[in-house]
Amino acid sequence: ILIVLGLIFIGLALFMSQKMSKKAMVPIAKAFTRQKEFAADASHELRTPLAVLQSSLDAMDMTLRDEKDQFTEKLLKNMRQEVKRMTSLVGDLLTLARSDSNTVELRKDTFNLRQMAEDVLESVRPLADEKTISTSLDAPENLMVVADPERLSQLIYILLDNAIKYTPAGGAVKISLSQEECYVYITVNDTGVGIKDKDLNHIFERFYRADKSRSRQMGGHGLGLSIAKWIVETHKGTIEVSSELEKGSTFLVKIPRKME
Ligand code: ADP
Repeated sequence: ILIVLGLIFIGLALFMSQKMSKKAMVPIAKAFTRQKEFAADASHELRTPLAVLQSSLDAMDMTLRDEKDQFTEKLLKNMRQEVKRMTSLVGDLLTLARSDSNTVELRKDTFNLRQMAEDVLESVRPLADEKTISTSLDAPENLMVVADPERLSQLIYILLDNAIKYTPAGGAVKISLSQEECYVYITVNDTGVGIKDKDLNHIFERFYRADKSRSRQMGGHGLGLSIAKWIVETHKGTIEVSSELEKGSTFLVKIPRKME
């Protein structure tokens, strides 16, 4: 009798705990969804005042054109820099919030990845020139892929921008593209500061910066690589990094040539 009573008790306890955990699940899941929606809405709402601030600063700059003293000039420069940094941060937060709530619809276009890499390289060249960093591209003439062009160009931008940011003056940044039957490979290599072994496993995490003061100085906020990882994963690909301190880093992306 005791064994039967014991079994009934265990059965009842299991049944109740399952029911309770189901009940508790609903509010937690709801709260989580609400939090994601809040993050997306907040980032979205911040874009308008930032755009207004940016255009007001431009207007102020134009109006005061020749009448600015050194102090005003410095203040305006700082304000423009901070608005730029915040606009980029808000943009990144919005991308991640949307990725969390699965509200991003990927486009599916056919395009030449080499052409795209050339365009992105062109857009970051002024940053490289400023630091006398040489840039190069090694890719076949035609590398047609089916993917989301906006996201892939964002991915290439993040990797090249980082490579330039974390490479001292006089270094070199190289992007190479290659293909296999079903995959394309994007490799971004630099001769920069490198990444410590203890940081390698964390750099794709949100807000993780191996060297906070250096990253902040470079205008970073630790979200670029988490966005890069998300873009690669939505394309069912992989991203890997290898690095040697004071020698440089290599990021290797592998994605299917044709998005499903
Ligand atoms: P951040 O905005 O700080 O650059 P990321 O998410 O793009 O943020 O990168 C995370 C961290 O990884 C950076 O703060 C930096 O420490 C490290 N990192 C990324 N790319 C490189 C690179 N090419 N060389 C050295 N360190 C890098």
